[in-house]
Amino acid sequence: MSRVMKFAPVILKNLFSKPVTRRYPDVPIKYPEGDRGHVEIQIDKCISCGMCVRSCPTGTLSVDRMKGTWTIDRFDCVQCGYCVLKCPVKCLSIVPGYQEPEREKASQTYQKSPEVLKAEAEKRAKQAALAKEMAAKKAAALKAKKEAEAAAAAGKAAESAPAAAKN
Ligand code: SF4
Ligand code: SF4
Repeated sequence: MSRVMKFAPVILKNLFSKPVTRRYPDVPIKYPEGDRGHVEIQIDKCISCGMCVRSCPTGTLSVDRMKGTWTIDRFDCVQCGYCVLKCPVKCLSIVPGYQEPEREKASQTYQKSPEVLKAEAEKRAKQAALAKEMAAKKAAALKAKKEAEAAAAAGKAAESAPAAAKN
């Protein structure tokens, strides 16, 4: 009897209080402050600079500039947030919550939209054309300079030749 009396307050409390469990995933979970969450990317803002790749201590990120992809192996990510700090265009962020459970251990690849890829390809083509034009201009200027120097040297030689003949 004394045992029952000892546990009575606990029993009564549990009988009249709400369950401590939640109906996850029907009821969204509230993550505590300071939760590390996971890294998300706004892929169309990414400029494929590779700063995140170089700053990642676990080497879990990779970027393919030509394909316009950004890949993360979430099993290697330690949620340190360095990539988020280093991204120059702020397209990375740590958001609360964990990844959805998956059947396979696979890395996740995010692909830029076709419009962004097209715009980037056009920009690269313009830059290449500009670089080619600049190189051609530089080569032409160098050639003109060399020709002028050669002409000046020939002129000097022609001036000094009669003087030497007189002597
Ligand atoms: S949070 Fe840290 S470990 Fe995860 S991808 Fe970014 S830099 Fe790498
Ligand atoms: S640092 Fe940012 S912009 Fe640069 S590749 Fe990584 S996600 Fe893209």
